[in-house]
Amino acid sequence: MSVACPSSALEVVGPRLVLDLGRCTACGRCLELAQGLGSSRPEALLATRRRANLVVSYRLGDVK
Ligand code: SF4
Repeated sequence: MSVACPSSALEVVGPRLVLDLGRCTACGRCLELAQGLGSSRPEALLATRRRANLVVSYRLGDVK
């Protein structure tokens, strides 16, 4: 299932929210839509030699 991300960097897969930082253009749309839900966001390294390291996922109940 796709979420409101213009570059398809965000995806809901079962009970998890998957963020692909390799696709994210940092447009900020998801942050605008999430206003009021809190300011914490998953941390990930942006410099890596492995593409897979740019994809992180979180249990939906844990995202604040
Ligand atoms: S900032 Fe959010 S909405 Fe924009 S491309 Fe990245 S994940 Fe998608």
